Amino acid sequence: MTSSLQHKLTFDNRFVTQLTADLEPENFVRQVFDAAYSLAMPTPTAAPQLVAVSYDVAIACGFDCDDLAQPLFSKVFSGNGLLDGMTPYAMCYGGHQFGHWAGQLGDGRAINLGEVVTPTGHQTLQLKGAGPTPYSRTADGRAVLRSSVREFLCSEAMFHLGIPTTRALSLCLTGDEVVRDMFYDGRAAAEPGAVVCRVSSSFMRFGNFQLAAKRQDMALLKSLADFTIKHDFPHLLSDSTLIGPDVYIAWFKEVCQRTCELVIAWQRVGFVHGVMNTDNMSIIGETIDYGPYGWVDNFDLGWTPNTTDAQGKRYCFGRQGEIAQWNLFQLANAIYPLVDEAEPLEALLAEFATDYQQQWTHMMASKLGLVQYSAADLPLIEQLETLLMAIETDMTIFFRTLATLKQQQPVDEPQQLLQCFTPCYYNLEQVDELYLTQLAQWLTAYLERISTQNISDERRSAAMNKVNPKYVLRNYLAQQAITAAEQGDFSEIATLQTLLQFPYDEQPEFERYAQKRPDWARDKPGCSMLSCSS
Ligand code: AMP
Ligand code: MG
Repeated sequence: MTSSLQHKLTFDNRFVTQLTADLEPENFVRQVFDAAYSLAMPTPTAAPQLVAVSYDVAIACGFDCDDLAQPLFSKVFSGNGLLDGMTPYAMCYGGHQFGHWAGQLGDGRAINLGEVVTPTGHQTLQLKGAGPTPYSRTADGRAVLRSSVREFLCSEAMFHLGIPTTRALSLCLTGDEVVRDMFYDGRAAAEPGAVVCRVSSSFMRFGNFQLAAKRQDMALLKSLADFTIKHDFPHLLSDSTLIGPDVYIAWFKEVCQRTCELVIAWQRVGFVHGVMNTDNMSIIGETIDYGPYGWVDNFDLGWTPNTTDAQGKRYCFGRQGEIAQWNLFQLANAIYPLVDEAEPLEALLAEFATDYQQQWTHMMASKLGLVQYSAADLPLIEQLETLLMAIETDMTIFFRTLATLKQQQPVDEPQQLLQCFTPCYYNLEQVDELYLTQLAQWLTAYLERISTQNISDERRSAAMNKVNPKYVLRNYLAQQAITAAEQGDFSEIATLQTLLQFPYDEQPEFERYAQKRPDWARDKPGCSMLSCSS
């Protein structure tokens, strides 16, 4: 009997039909030249089990709620079956890793099943952890449960925060074990294997263009750029003022703008990607490749969740804008042959820096509830950064607390202040007289400033709470859900999924999820230190 699920979705696999395929049909590790992708089948697993699903993604793809309970659903989305119309393939790309050109990387454990046609456009369904591909290099093509839970929860959390991201349709256990040396210290251990199905209108990365350019494969480079512009930036083609190479320049400009907006949004909520290699940069400006990412608990511009980056701090919280520009510079180099003129690309890179600065101050002003921001407010913002760094202060709680202040609030009473802000501090011993004086000074300036706005406290507070989330996927919360899931209890995943759908709302029943990181989680692996091993 064929399942009704079999023909439920409509596929139109443009990546496969419109771009050049690798002619080698066998699935073995190799360098792939002159091709955008290689056909690659997912490798079957022992015992597929659906752990979590995002209902709105499923519905958007064309499924009904009933479909999700069908065995075929978990089979397909764990790599154990295909739906009619799917053509599995792995993409070929390269990238700069930690600032060094790494050559061919590619989808080493991601397999695209196909592009589903939805009312809002084509969406590619991509399994992560579904077995080896020609791009797996020395690795196994698999993913462990812990990293898959993190990817599933965080992509959905980001979406509900209003931040561009790949989505997650489903999370399945494979029933197989995967061996990982989590801290690269020789203590390899078996962990449960899992597969996430990610969904995006494009999984193209800066690295797709880079690899074609590095190999001087101009035909491939042009086809990748034209494909991306045609499907993901179609408005550029209908703009008759863009002639010849102008369309590539306009495209690069938009990639710069989207990347800028993306990183500003990360800074707003305290998200640190952790591995901003150019192969992890989406050409459509989405957050992609959730690895050793983290959320700052205490505001620290130097914080990186990635243990591999603990020394260099290349990808720390405070450097994400600068790194985005560095990555865009690499993309500019890659597409230069299409433009054949350095000056417009250089101008756009310079523009990125000024746009970033401008948008950053604008974003910070919005976090403070400053409606009509002027350059005169910059010192207030900069002083706040210094204050937040002065002692360990929870970023998320601080801004929610700020929104509760009243314009007439007396700020010269240190004890009152302390009471108000106590939930933000990680170590009350750090709250000394000097700090309290600085806090009082800053708050006096802040309250003075907001009283010039002619906006009620209620309105200011409501506006602030729309940009300052109350609930974020704190690292320790994700880790708790993982620990339970590893014991077969998926309820914490479901709870986090539920509450993170409304990150800006007060949800009294979930208040404990809004509290600062508990002390036991300070230096605990998975909570503040994450390795790339996944
Ligand atoms: P990442 O650091 O996750 O962006 O991965 C960098 C590259 O390594 C990408 O090409 C991945 O597809 C590949 N990769 C990472 N983990 C695995 C794995 N377990 N098996 C095969 N390839 C992998
Ligand atoms: Mg990657």
